[in-house]
Amino acid sequence: MIRDNTEIKTIVIAGGGTAGWMSAAALAKLVAPRGIRIILVESDQIGTVGVGEATLPHLRFFNQTLGIDERELIKATNATIKLGIEFCDWGQRGDSYIHPFGDYGREIQNVEFHHYWSRAAREAKGGDAARICDWSLPVIMAQKNKFGMPATDPDQIMSSFSYAYQFDATAYAAYLSRFAQDKGVERVEGKITQVLTDTENGAISGLKMENGEVISGDFFIDCTGFRSLLMNGALDVGFEDWSKWLPCDRAVAVPCEGDDAPQPYTRATAQAAGWTWRIPLQHRIGNGHVYCSDYMSDNEALDVLLDGLEGKPTRDPKFLRFKAGRRVKSWEKNCVAVGLSGGFLEPLESTSIYLIQAAITHFIELLPQSKDSKSDRDEFNRLMDLETDRIRDFLILHYHATERDDTPFWNYVRTMDVPDSLREKMALFRQAGIVQEYKHGLFLHASWVAVYLGQRIVPAQSHPAVSQVNPERLAAHLSTLRGSIAQTVDALPDHRDFLAKFCQESAT
Ligand SMILES: Cc1cc2nc3c(=O)[nH]c(=O)nc-3n(C[C@H](O)[C@H](O)[C@H](O)COP(=O)(O)OP(=O)(O)OC[C@H]3O[C@@H](n4cnc5c(N)ncnc54)[C@H](O)[C@@H]3O)c2cc1C
Repeated sequence: MIRDNTEIKTIVIAGGGTAGWMSAAALAKLVAPRGIRIILVESDQIGTVGVGEATLPHLRFFNQTLGIDERELIKATNATIKLGIEFCDWGQRGDSYIHPFGDYGREIQNVEFHHYWSRAAREAKGGDAARICDWSLPVIMAQKNKFGMPATDPDQIMSSFSYAYQFDATAYAAYLSRFAQDKGVERVEGKITQVLTDTENGAISGLKMENGEVISGDFFIDCTGFRSLLMNGALDVGFEDWSKWLPCDRAVAVPCEGDDAPQPYTRATAQAAGWTWRIPLQHRIGNGHVYCSDYMSDNEALDVLLDGLEGKPTRDPKFLRFKAGRRVKSWEKNCVAVGLSGGFLEPLESTSIYLIQAAITHFIELLPQSKDSKSDRDEFNRLMDLETDRIRDFLILHYHATERDDTPFWNYVRTMDVPDSLREKMALFRQAGIVQEYKHGLFLHASWVAVYLGQRIVPAQSHPAVSQVNPERLAAHLSTLRGSIAQTVDALPDHRDFLAKFCQESAT
């Protein structure tokens, strides 16, 4: 095969956290067979960010593409099942709802279920908005601590949900490291001291290591975390700061001992100047407090976190600092940013690992024939901008759709200006219960409905088709559906028993 000097022969991944090893594993499986060499550089001394335990269902499809055995992975990462996130104290103190990975009820004559539910709730003299959850199979499973695998037959009620994992992300990266190296990825351990660039075109040519060695490549993936050594350091790609909408800028994390009945959902509890997370794994509970340093000190934040722990801490607390936003470009010259090097949106909806997956998937789809391909680069940047903009709006919604006025932090987020794109979406739902549809990006219809209704944004009117349905027939339909969800869930095994049996089956 004839190769010209613009062809990509070697891809170098800088960084070996979750982003680095997910990239390496995907490239090893899908790109290396084309004859492209993959090298990953990581520093044991620097280590990784060491947090990130809650995921989204999409990760299962990433693992399936790689051919990873689910049982083996669950065991290796001490994973539990995640059916959604419970939000406590967000709309008002005392409120609670679950944002599930699944639908509410079923469409009736092509009109979404929440329109019918809203009408029934209004007719029942303003039934509790959060109770739409009673028509969600994953919510009832989560509340009863039960789990069974989703069905593939769309006519079965068990097909109405998906699931993700709560897992040890360090163990996941270690698993992928073994996977990628088995498939030929070369690992270089050591500290990068300089990123070398081509004097003519400014592209990256190599990474200079502390021992003087230079790792050369044709294309580079920046997975160096918040340091962003290549994109920020060498290529000087600017940062779009979103902290006026997402003002939390610190976190403190500490794991604690768990019990033997881990819940299949993550909890996010609103606090005076941010929120705390609780992520039950098989062997421990991950806990953390995300907060805004304008309104709370590190010591106060740690006290709030420790006060809420349900078991003995198993490690010293770890403090982290960040700023919400993203690089103005995710691909510049011959480098793409994957993971924290490309920006950060706080972990309220567990979106960071999803964004890693999206970046690496789009990159492999668009992988250019030559080192500098403008059309591939522009399309990648467009897709990643869409992904992050939509997640940004969804996260802001959680803060802005609140009636809380009990602390300066909540007064700020409740009254702040929001992006026009979000203001329009909220107005549409308030007026007519319509969720703005989009083709690309995370968080589709049911997710927006979950947060709107869970945080007290109830539509003023329902879809016109709803008034055509006889009220008694509607009430009977809702009652039957709710009963059949409850009955289905009652017949499922406990989450803990499911995990034990599922993991055991792999050994036989
Ligand atoms: C508080 C908090 C909670 C989070 N919770 C979640 C969650 O629940 N779900 C979720 O999806 N995401 C979550 N995230 C995000 C998630 O942790 C990250 O997206 C994920 O871990 C990927 O990080 P990374 O690989 O980009 O960076 P890192 O883990 O920081 O890895 C960086 C790598 O670069 C290497 N490196 C850096 N500098 C050098 C150098 N000079 N030489 C050599 N190597 C170098 C490091 O050694 C390391 O290997 C959370 C993040 C934070 C801050």
